[in-house]
Amino acid sequence: MIQVSTRDDCSWGEGVLVDSSVQASSNNGRLLAWREIDLDAVRHNVRRIAETCPAAQLMVVVKADGYSHGAPEVARAALAAGATYLGVATIGEALALRRAGITAPLLAWLAGPGSPYGTAIAQGIELAAYSCAQLSEIVQAAQEQGHVPRIHLKAETGMWRGGAADEWALLVAQARAHEAQGLVRVVGVWSHLACADRVDHPANDQQRDWFLRAVQVAEEAGLRPRLRHLANSAATLTRPDLHFDMVRCGLATYGVNPLSGQEAPVQLRPVVTVKARVTHVKRAPAGAGVSYGHTYRTPASTTLALVPLGYADGVPVAPLEGAPVGYRGKSVPLAGRVCMDQLVLDVGDLQVQPGDVVTLLGPGRDGEHRAEDWAALSGRSSYEILTGLGRPRVPAIYVNDE
Ligand SMILES: *Cc1c(COP(=O)(O)O)cnc(C)c1O
Repeated sequence: MIQVSTRDDCSWGEGVLVDSSVQASSNNGRLLAWREIDLDAVRHNVRRIAETCPAAQLMVVVKADGYSHGAPEVARAALAAGATYLGVATIGEALALRRAGITAPLLAWLAGPGSPYGTAIAQGIELAAYSCAQLSEIVQAAQEQGHVPRIHLKAETGMWRGGAADEWALLVAQARAHEAQGLVRVVGVWSHLACADRVDHPANDQQRDWFLRAVQVAEEAGLRPRLRHLANSAATLTRPDLHFDMVRCGLATYGVNPLSGQEAPVQLRPVVTVKARVTHVKRAPAGAGVSYGHTYRTPASTTLALVPLGYADGVPVAPLEGAPVGYRGKSVPLAGRVCMDQLVLDVGDLQVQPGDVVTLLGPGRDGEHRAEDWAALSGRSSYEILTGLGRPRVPAIYVNDE
């Protein structure tokens, strides 16, 4: 089944959406550019990840609209393949999943004074508490709603982002007191790793030690958290000793290798493929300066093809001259600077026609680069490449939905 996302369905210019009877890979109506989101790849990745952590629950992280792949669609596919929990940053993201009809256990971990805790709790959304003040605010909001909130207490363990540091002993004591009064349920104690992408980084062991001490302090205070969780994708794939009761996987779910400098130990399938139709083709003489600043000059007489995707659509601008774009199994190089909405390919003597499909990013079947390669070329992270792609002019088309 093929379905165009209804949340960003502005087909570009022509006002035509994909006919659902049309094969996504062959002909997407008159769209100029689109993203194919392969939900079968999501299910495959979730199964491979789950095999690496058989004793732990798998939380799939769908913050930032599922790393721009579409949070509800990814969530449904992940849950069907065995994920048991969902994770997002903000309460707004969590409420959007509930509105989409998703009832699975769901944790939102980024909130501040005045956040809509009561609304979240009424929707069965689990919340993180990083400090005594935050826990008090959550408990008060829950009492006003007549609910008992499910809380994950976050400990600082060496990333120095969110989580209680000096306040930890006070936080667990306060949580225990509230729990004894029936005002909260502490379901989790958790933290986050700073350097898990480097398997041999000493911070990983230090954070493990610090985390175990934090758990011990919580248990000594009388808490019995059912879910101790620390690992992200990288630690899930490489450090079984960090799995504890649950792992939180984002990047690997989307089929992108979370490790720096080494291959992923399980076979992951990239989920998103970015495609566009060539809009214009012409011959250019040798020495033609292409695009802004004339940073590229044609080495010989050649054919140039215009592709309607640019940095406003999330294509990285940074030094990408020569970056390969897939065209019928061949890699053709990008010529000159990426513009706001367009880029130019130097296709040599290939017989490219307006309307032909090129692939900018994907699993590599068409000669294109993967997200990891674009990240390396542009000096960004794979996370930035993926989240950058969620732009309204490039609608998401879901393939292999079940
Ligand atoms: C984003 C995030 C994750 C997922 O990280 P990946 O490296 O994408 O697996 C897990 N936990 C927290 C707290 C996060 O912010």
